[in-house]
Order: sequence, then C-alpha cells, then structure tokens
Amino acid sequence: MQPNLIDIPKEFYPFESAEPFKECMVCGIDLTLGTIDYFVEKAVKNNVEYQVQDIVFEYAICSACAHTMQQSISKESQQNMQAFFTNRQAFMSKMQAYQRGEGEPLEELISRCSLYGEPITEMSEYMMLGHFRGGKMITTTMPYIMGGKAMDELSGLMSNETIDEMNKFKDQYFGGPVELEGLWKGKPVFL
Ligand SMILES: [Zn+2]
Repeated sequence: MQPNLIDIPKEFYPFESAEPFKECMVCGIDLTLGTIDYFVEKAVKNNVEYQVQDIVFEYAICSACAHTMQQSISKESQQNMQAFFTNRQAFMSKMQAYQRGEGEPLEELISRCSLYGEPITEMSEYMMLGHFRGGKMITTTMPYIMGGKAMDELSGLMSNETIDEMNKFKDQYFGGPVELEGLWKGKPVFL
C-alpha cells in the first residue's frame, strides 16, 4: 500500500533552512529523489525563559543506513526500547489513532512530548523524530517528540554496549559546541 504523503513541517527542516534535508548523513544518497525513505532526528536545547533554541544535533538518515545502525544495537536493548513504548498505553493509542488518520493535528502533535504531554516551550531539552520520502512526510508513521524525562527513562533501559555504540555514532558525525555535546553524552540516538 502506498503511504499517504503530506508536506513536511518546517520543524523537520534543517535548522534555519527553507528546504528539507537533501542527503543521508551516513551514505550521502540523494533523498530528494524519493527512491528511499528516510528519518530525521533532531535534538533541541531550549532556553525556556527566552524561548531561544539551539540544535544539539540534527540529521537525516536513509532507511538502509538506519537498518544497519539498528543491527549494531543489542537484542536486549532493542527489546527494552520496544517495551518502553508498547507499555505506554496513551502513547500507543495516540499512534494508532494517527495511523488511522484520526489523530491530533500535526502542529498539536509536534508541540508536546508524545509521552508526557509537556509543551516543548516548557522543556529545556527534547528530541523529535519523523519519517519522510522525498520532499514529503509519510503519514503512516507518527512523528514524535520526546522530552528530557522520557529520554532519561529510555536511556536507563539501554545496555552500556548500546550506549557506547550510539556515542560512537554521534562522535563520528556530530561536531558542534562542546558544552552541548557534553549534555547529550549517554543519551540514545533513536531510530
Ligand atoms: Zn544512507
């Protein structure tokens, strides 16, 4: 079945860019052709008082590279991550409603932590993830936001090996201000 495609919300564009991501960070494949799906992940640090955002890291990764990346995560960590989401009934219901086309409007959905409902304007850090094809967003996968609290809980379920793998991945691809990098050490990269 062909998934439905909608315009990509600007929140998933590269920071301060007027256009979506164009290539896979890992293999460099041209994502604008729409020949392979991709994911965009962003980690945002938000100054709650001034409402100024810094991007800790952001990238697009094609589904082939994401799959390879997933293979490097231990079975146990994969199962723990999966259980983390499936055990949260409210999150799962929200996702199922979204897949049926009966979910909250997209703007509403990406304005709060998908697990705890905290508005992003009130969180000092959060991550966002979405699924795309070419210049469009795939509506059969709910984009989600994860706030600091949910991230801490999830990273607590990772094995040390998995966290090492994820840190290696981050070290390899992300530069950026050192003080921000320090903040995200040990936080998982979600795929
Ligand atoms: Zn790739």
